[in-house]
Amino acid sequence: MSLPSGWEMVIGLEVHAQIHTRSKIFCACPTGFGGEANSRTCPVCLGMPGALPVLNRRVLEMTALLGLALGSRVALRSQLARKNYFYPDLPKGYQISQYDQPLCEGGAVEIPFEGGRRKIALTRIHIEEDAGKNIHLDGRSLVDLNRCGTALAEIVSEPDMRSPDEAREYLGRLRQLLLWLGISDGNMEEGSLRCDANVSVRHVGDTELGQRTELKNLNSFRAVAAALAFEAERQVAVLESGGKVEKVTLLWDAHEKRSRPLRGKEESKDYRYFPEPDLLPAGLSEGELSTLVAGLPASPLDRLDSLMENHDLDFYEADILTRERAMVDFFELLAEACGDSKAASRWMLGELARQLNDRVQNIEDLKLRPDSLAELIVLERDGKLSGLAAKSVLEKMLEEGGSANEWMERLDLAQLSDAGELANLVKSVLEANPKEVERYRGGRKKLFGFFVGEIMSATKGKADPKEVGRLLREGLDA
Ligand SMILES: [Zn+2]
Repeated sequence: MSLPSGWEMVIGLEVHAQIHTRSKIFCACPTGFGGEANSRTCPVCLGMPGALPVLNRRVLEMTALLGLALGSRVALRSQLARKNYFYPDLPKGYQISQYDQPLCEGGAVEIPFEGGRRKIALTRIHIEEDAGKNIHLDGRSLVDLNRCGTALAEIVSEPDMRSPDEAREYLGRLRQLLLWLGISDGNMEEGSLRCDANVSVRHVGDTELGQRTELKNLNSFRAVAAALAFEAERQVAVLESGGKVEKVTLLWDAHEKRSRPLRGKEESKDYRYFPEPDLLPAGLSEGELSTLVAGLPASPLDRLDSLMENHDLDFYEADILTRERAMVDFFELLAEACGDSKAASRWMLGELARQLNDRVQNIEDLKLRPDSLAELIVLERDGKLSGLAAKSVLEKMLEEGGSANEWMERLDLAQLSDAGELANLVKSVLEANPKEVERYRGGRKKLFGFFVGEIMSATKGKADPKEVGRLLREGLDA
């Protein structure tokens, strides 16, 4: 998309990520997507008068871990707050969130962008409870409160992004990190990762922000990019025709590919925030924080840099291999075991990725160990397995485990590459076909393929084609 020249857009994102915990944030009800409506509820998450919330410490730990990974300042003491508003899927009439004392402040999400790196600054990360779901069916409205009280981390960025592409990249890298750290499953279809955007436009060179609008319901990467482009173009059109951008909340309609006003944008004073009287201030001790810091894994971008530097991979390869932590761990073990980073990357991004895709399988659930795949790579490199046979062996190893050597024997796939044996075979094929040899030598070079075919059929396709070619050329051109 492109705005008319002279205009730029300014984007800030608010991302809600469901935190992967077994129980909800203030009660012992189990979390999880779906399930029989209203089966996972109790007086606390149903908002019964008098029921008392108890904070799930795991939510604090996971959110603090995210903050530490993003370079935020993590407060030793933060405050939960009541955000008052009425919604049918929020039976308490208020949401427990955080207001002026969030758990994390500052920090940044680093994104690769246009060949370099950019840091998108964060305002804050706070914890809060999710609401239930309204379901509109055949003219009736139903409420499912299973999701009520599921723990959320809300990650709020500064208005630091300038294009839909950048916003999409930011969201992708944030999601990658959430999965990397095991904080959230990042599933946008099931709503465990949701995104709202604040958008404004201004003349290039202006330092003041224009009037922003808020876009809700951006539940896919495509929706984020499409909605931002649509809204920025709408605002520019309003301003260029002499109008004024209204402060509104807009709902993105992914089918119609347009936004429509949902309500006037609330301000924080509309919510009448006050400190949650049923909960003590929440925080982790310095000891707990240092434990988290000590356990913090290298970031995806650090691992990516290391693959480019130490394994001589290009950005594209290194980027795909670092999409998931299990994948880059597997790659590094594989590269070390087979002693060939390029082959390791080629196999992982090629045949292994293809077969995993066919099976809808993740690398974590594999029976295949990196050293077994390394064995396979070496067998192929040394000419003991043809490329095609190596793929069949991989398939067996994925299905049933076991080693490459074992499967090569069991399937009788070992490539015939013994030079002496092959030389005898070539000799006997040439002797058995004297006319063809004569015609070949007389200039019918196309007959070369005929001889290769004869040898392949005599060996049931197992002869090493490179070696066969070399020996044939030797025999025929002699
Ligand atoms: Zn409950």
